[in-house]
Amino acid sequence: MEVTDYKCLHCGHEYKGPFDKKVPIERVCPKCSSNSIRKVKKKPTK
Ligand SMILES: [Zn+2]
Repeated sequence: MEVTDYKCLHCGHEYKGPFDKKVPIERVCPKCSSNSIRKVKKKPTK
């Protein structure tokens, strides 16, 4: 399982969460409980 960065489109909160291709996880913002979550692509440079 890999960890991916997610960003909430509702409140802008960014967090890391597990990402499993086999198991579709319902993504919900831990801050505002919105399901408008977008996957953020990791940048190669910090
Ligand atoms: Zn949110």
